[in-house]
Amino acid sequence: MGHSARRGSVAWPVEPSSTFHLVGTGAVVSMPLIPELVLDEIQSRVEIAELIGRYVPLKRAGRHFKALCPFHQERTPSFHINVDKQIFHCFGCGVGGNVFSFLMQRERLTFPEAVHQLAEQARVEIPQGAEASRNGHTDQLYAMLEKTCRYYERLLAHPREGRVARAYLRTRGVAERTRQAYRLGCAPMAGWDRLVQAAKKTSPDPGLLERAGLIVRGRRGLVDRLGAQAREARRVQPAAAGS
Ligand SMILES: [Zn+2]
Repeated sequence: MGHSARRGSVAWPVEPSSTFHLVGTGAVVSMPLIPELVLDEIQSRVEIAELIGRYVPLKRAGRHFKALCPFHQERTPSFHINVDKQIFHCFGCGVGGNVFSFLMQRERLTFPEAVHQLAEQARVEIPQGAEASRNGHTDQLYAMLEKTCRYYERLLAHPREGRVARAYLRTRGVAERTRQAYRLGCAPMAGWDRLVQAAKKTSPDPGLLERAGLIVRGRRGLVDRLGAQAREARRVQPAAAGS
């Protein structure tokens, strides 16, 4: 279930900054369109062990399961499934997550695609408004969200811009594959309106970003929501903000 609006979207320009804030842009960008309750309902109906068991043979480990990791080569199982928390984690390569992230990484799907696929299997209906319809406004919105996601992804992949953030991810054991599967990006803390400025260069309607909640109206006019959150986090908890 791809979104037609994803085709032909233009990448936004990336400009230099010295500090960063990591963002799971894929998730942040997609979440508001599918209600939390629907995601919970899907998760309650899809058994993670059953899902992963379709791809790799599982061995019982008490109440839980382990397996040879489907994401890296190994001879002894370091891939664990916790059935209480409905999550998986590999102590070998560091991948981990829930049913949605497993499917995203295994089948190379976007978050909405993984949600739709599991919703279908679990016979959970996704409300009309949350669907990517052929309706022009929704298509525009998806195109904008996709562009935003790519913008932050490109910042993280940028040789200079993303260098510190990528080094940080390596120290946390986040593999490049995981980074790409979750579509991680980084939002620069320097420059409070970079997304706004980047959008103005390519988009006829930056107001769409505001309606999507990606930019907010501050005292200085429109500012990036993710950048604003990063600065707020740093102000409140300097030690916890990555830099
Ligand atoms: Zn692994």
